[in-house]
Amino acid sequence: TAAAAGSSSDGENARAAAELARRIAAEVARRRNFAIISHPDAGKTTMTEKLLLYGGAIHEAGEVKARANARSATSDFMALEKQRGISISSTAMTWQYQGSCLNLLDTPGHQDFSEDTYRTLAAADNAVLLVDGAKGIEPQTRKLFAVARLRGLPVFTFVNKMDRPALNGFEIIEQLEKEFGLQSYPVTWPIGSGDRFCGVYHRPSNKVLLYAKAGRGKAAASAQYELGDPALAGIIEADLREQLMEEVELLQILGDEPSAEEIASGAVTPMYFGSAFNNFGVDLFLQSFISLAVPPRPAKAKGNPAVLAALEPSEESSSSSNGSSSGSKAAGSTSIEGTVSPESTHFSGLVFKLQANMDPKHRDKVAFVRVVSGKFDKGMKVKVARTGRVVSLSRPQQMFAQSRATVQEGFAGDVIGLTNPGAFAIGDTIYAGPELSFPPIPSFSPELFAYLRCAPNQKKAFAKGVEGLLGEGAVQVLYSTDEYITDPILAAVGQLQFEVVQYRMKDEYGVDTTLEPLSFCVARWVLGGWPAVERAGRMFNTTVVKDAYGRPVLLFRNEFAFNQVIAEQGEKLGELSAFALP
Ligand code: GDP
Repeated sequence: TAAAAGSSSDGENARAAAELARRIAAEVARRRNFAIISHPDAGKTTMTEKLLLYGGAIHEAGEVKARANARSATSDFMALEKQRGISISSTAMTWQYQGSCLNLLDTPGHQDFSEDTYRTLAAADNAVLLVDGAKGIEPQTRKLFAVARLRGLPVFTFVNKMDRPALNGFEIIEQLEKEFGLQSYPVTWPIGSGDRFCGVYHRPSNKVLLYAKAGRGKAAASAQYELGDPALAGIIEADLREQLMEEVELLQILGDEPSAEEIASGAVTPMYFGSAFNNFGVDLFLQSFISLAVPPRPAKAKGNPAVLAALEPSEESSSSSNGSSSGSKAAGSTSIEGTVSPESTHFSGLVFKLQANMDPKHRDKVAFVRVVSGKFDKGMKVKVARTGRVVSLSRPQQMFAQSRATVQEGFAGDVIGLTNPGAFAIGDTIYAGPELSFPPIPSFSPELFAYLRCAPNQKKAFAKGVEGLLGEGAVQVLYSTDEYITDPILAAVGQLQFEVVQYRMKDEYGVDTTLEPLSFCVARWVLGGWPAVERAGRMFNTTVVKDAYGRPVLLFRNEFAFNQVIAEQGEKLGELSAFALP
């Protein structure tokens, strides 16, 4: 929208606008944005490294880990990070592969599992389920899968560590079906496992690719044979060959190639087998992935009809809690609910994560924004829907592999780090065109609870800190219904969140705190509110607390207590939610 100088004609402007629209459409079409869902130790770091290797984003295996170590040595977010040698801060990696632009959103696992893990997944368009071939589906995978399901993401399954003794492929297919109701479509199929791992059969090409251990960082150059090639008899032992032929037949019975729609909706998962460590099967996965994964999709939003395509009337929801109160003098008259196309020429983005003190030299806060539509340009001015404030995005950063590079432009599906402290909160919509706002990001069901306390003379700073950290989404806060107990109850999905809160309380607000863990592990919001709680009457093995908005929340010590209350009083309680609905 730069003011064209002098005599530039309407024709020229129209041409420029058309060119911009073409450019955006092309960039959106080649983008594939994804997150890896896995249980710790399944090989996510190793897989990430191998995937990056293919785009030349890194040059040697070991760099991702090495970088994680280097970071923990230099960054002071935190001393905590240093102590543990984990990286709290990697968020997104971008690289090019065969004409596609890949964005991998990092979902922290291990002890650093936190709400950020969920939120990051909420910014992804595709999920890659990484399974340890020996272990199958594990607990953390379940939690993350639930979020992917909630969002209707396409899921791609890579079964890793086939060079170790592994479950039979059909056992994993069955697990996925039983636990997740997910149908599998194996694109590759393993031949043996562990010491007898011979390679994979690639269904689209009807070829067998022989396994060879890789050298450092290099893809193993594996020999290829037609499935029926007699030469295989001299290479693969008879029993494994026989088994392969039987299994190939079984696969055919199991189902035809799924439609693009079945994959895009997450009903069927394309499945691959290999060994990330030995870089075997990763290239087959990646090639298939870029052709089947979905590009950035239209996003639901509320706002000006000039940027939104109206929803079908049945999809309309009546929530009107966030964001729409500000800067919308014309609210009511023009605001509609609809979807924003990623190809819209109007820029919009969603703040899905805030990170404190990433850069020791700046001690700044970085807001991570997922571009939802249009084109992001360095230095552009955007409006924050929540506050109506106009912010100039002059210091954008993108996480390119391991280093922070300054981005000049970005398109839907890209993640950009913005360093404008204080301007943003989690869930914020930013936009540069007609007004719009995205629905709030849900909070996730907490599983860890603890009273947070401070010395009596620090109450004021303490309250300020709790409010600040709560506003940032670092942790959820609940309160006792007993008016004499004013200590907040921190509620988190991961232990690290508690440690981060305590650290930042001290570091940023100068308050020493103590934690008193509570032995609850299940929380449910009562959607019917206090009247429903009253109707239910006395509930055993349940503690009733309230959230920051005064809404009733039930806490249970275990699933058993929860199920008991549901059986006895479920009807009176009415609908319960594991999430804090906005
Ligand atoms: P993460 O916790 O999911 O990030 O897992 P890592 O990538 O750190 O891997 C965990 C361990 O499994 C490491 O010791 C890896 O070397 C090992 N590993 C990863 N992939 C493979 C594989 O394909 N085969 C074997 N044998 N080990 C692997």
